[in-house]
Amino acid sequence: MSVRCSACRARRDWLLINHGRNAWIVCRCSNQWLEPEISRADFDALIAVPDRKTYPSVEQGLAALGFDGAFTGTYLD
Ligand SMILES: [Zn+2]
Repeated sequence: MSVRCSACRARRDWLLINHGRNAWIVCRCSNQWLEPEISRADFDALIAVPDRKTYPSVEQGLAALGFDGAFTGTYLD
């Protein structure tokens, strides 16, 4: 399945956010959307990092990780 950001047409370099049973995709341009095809089990399987970092708020996490729009149009590898 090919996924593109509806705002900037980017194809990759996403941030996945899990909240309860929902998974959200965030683009570098700061556009975000609910992705109903990613379940909690899918999310946990994708994000199997033992030292997860948490942030005081979603907004602070987005800024710290570069998903607040500062890198719009950029793919960071
Ligand atoms: Zn985008």
